[in-house]
Amino acid sequence: MQCKAAENAKQCNCSYEPCPRKGICCDCVAYHRDLGQLPACFFPENVERTYDRSIAKFVSLHLKG
Ligand code: SF4
Repeated sequence: MQCKAAENAKQCNCSYEPCPRKGICCDCVAYHRDLGQLPACFFPENVERTYDRSIAKFVSLHLKG
């Protein structure tokens, strides 16, 4: 199977431009998983831009209140 990094990068919503993992989703997931976080694409754009990628933030966005 070919790596789809270039294709993935076209759909990546991450605004952190210097990141070397853009489009390399396996590395992106592993990086944020090790930090107790989720990748940018789990968040809407206004939240993604805050760089708060915590699981707590993700859950707060999806709690019904
Ligand atoms: S979500 Fe994190 S690892 Fe993934 S491209 Fe953005 S800054 Fe890089």
